[in-house]
Amino acid sequence: MKKPSKTLPAIAYTIVGHDLAAHLFHVSVTVAAPAEGGQIFALPAWIPGSYMIREFSRNIVRIRAESKGEPVELTKLDKHSWQAAPLADRSAALTVHYEVYAWDLSVRAAHLDQNHGFFNGTSTFLRVLGQEELPHVVDIQRPADEAAAGWRVATSLPELKAKRYGYGTYIASSYDELIDHPVEQGDFALATFKAHGIPHDIVITGRVPNLDLARLSADLKKICETQIAFFEPKTKKAPMDRYVFMTMAVGDGYGGLEHRASTALICNRGDLPTTAARGKDISDGYLQYLGLCSHEYFHTWNVKRIKPAAFAPYNLQVENYSPLLWLFEGFTSYYDDLMLVRAGIIGEPAYFKLLGKTVGSVLRGSGRTKQSVADSSFDAWGKYYRQDENAPNAIVSYYTKGSLIGLALDLSIRAKTGGEKSLDDVMRALWQRYGRDFYTGGGRGVTPAEAEVLFDEISGGRFKPFFDKYIRGTEDLPLAKLLAPFGLKYNDERKSSKPSFDANLGKDGNDCKLSAVHENGAAQQAGLSAGDILIAVDGLRVTATNLDTLLSRYAVGETVEVYAFRRDELMRFDLTLQGDRAPGITLTVEAAGKKSAGPLRPSASR
Ligand SMILES: [Zn+2]
Repeated sequence: MKKPSKTLPAIAYTIVGHDLAAHLFHVSVTVAAPAEGGQIFALPAWIPGSYMIREFSRNIVRIRAESKGEPVELTKLDKHSWQAAPLADRSAALTVHYEVYAWDLSVRAAHLDQNHGFFNGTSTFLRVLGQEELPHVVDIQRPADEAAAGWRVATSLPELKAKRYGYGTYIASSYDELIDHPVEQGDFALATFKAHGIPHDIVITGRVPNLDLARLSADLKKICETQIAFFEPKTKKAPMDRYVFMTMAVGDGYGGLEHRASTALICNRGDLPTTAARGKDISDGYLQYLGLCSHEYFHTWNVKRIKPAAFAPYNLQVENYSPLLWLFEGFTSYYDDLMLVRAGIIGEPAYFKLLGKTVGSVLRGSGRTKQSVADSSFDAWGKYYRQDENAPNAIVSYYTKGSLIGLALDLSIRAKTGGEKSLDDVMRALWQRYGRDFYTGGGRGVTPAEAEVLFDEISGGRFKPFFDKYIRGTEDLPLAKLLAPFGLKYNDERKSSKPSFDANLGKDGNDCKLSAVHENGAAQQAGLSAGDILIAVDGLRVTATNLDTLLSRYAVGETVEVYAFRRDELMRFDLTLQGDRAPGITLTVEAAGKKSAGPLRPSASR
């Protein structure tokens, strides 16, 4: 590779929402010093944080290359790579122009219309092979469409020649950094607060009547300050200069994706707080939204800086296998709600309710007896992210069981050390050793063995049997036993007398469709299958919502006649009703005052 030209930035992109109605971004990338043998360009096949091959290059509609105004031949090498012909003039720059179709209303790709223009760099910026470590600049241009006349830009990408929230040129020190700052454009709601001195923006796109930005700012400030102080209790120093929470509020949606200095979120507009409910208790929807914000913010440390070795660096063209997602997603899920308690957003009873729900959801599926969380992590690409109707019988979630592993390890360390140490200390040790200097010190990530040994080191105990049974193995966590010393009682209040099909019910218009049937459950034993549409039980019509009511007149063990459509064929079944096997787990405080609620408190040590 030649030395980059002094006058041109090494890698310079332009991006403009060219045709809002056609959902097309026009993008160009100019390479000052293209590779002599012919520069190769590639678009990532996946976006870090969402472990599935998505082949973003399928959204590139037209692509061409030119140098000094003359066309340059571009050869496609594989599904996401192109190579430009070598240039005769070795000092000339090379530019590739392309269109990206942006019509995926999610946090993972790009979405452009008359209301806003959102993009991730993984969907829009071709990687210039061999030059990833050079500075990358991007000129974000205002769409010519009059709908965009009042738009602003929100991103955590540092400005080079742009005002904050303005169109203009932004800069990243490498390709890895460039694609880790999603960009939102639109006529969005905006609020800013400081958490331990660091400015945090809240950006909301989508129509949200009477949005209570003041309440949202106050609540997020508490959560962010709690987390900053959690990782750096002495200095309270955040790992980023600023942070952006960007949310797309929609009719029906839920999700988030973490980045090093921002997060992209999608939620139901009804989940966001309204000024009409000022002073009222937190709603379930708003609580879920704050939990999501807390989750993605915790990732700023745990996975964006403390990383599995398999992600350091990412290989963006193929699957990156790590057996540690139970730690990176599971522990983040453990701490997301816990931080709401520590920040004073919810009380202990509300927290135990959430915890009980998580335990119940893990125990519901028999897949937990077949797949360990280490295997679930490794196979995320093909299984967790590609769930079908058999998922409850075949896989375990490294999020939910992973969060219970966090709880079990937390309780075990506290018990072994008399409350002196906790999982908090493990997280801080991971942060100090692998996370804090990740971007400045050429971080290499943490291996499974390095993570495991930390538990022994911090507790003075021996955790190999725990890892063998519950992380590499498929045993259920002994939560009742672990919770008892802390004055917490684990109750299984399953309503086994309630007759059920033991299947997941879904809707198909006004009809009831079985979305999953559980292994050895009543529906499966009768011969019913996921996808079947229930028509009648003992001659009475089944609708999308009335099955429970119909079954309430029967007792467990009675047999009913069921008619169902499998595709377009009517079938008849004899179904013997089973007791509802869904565990109803509740946690109650037994010995108030003593060691009660130990796991909620930060451990004494620093
Ligand atoms: Zn996560």
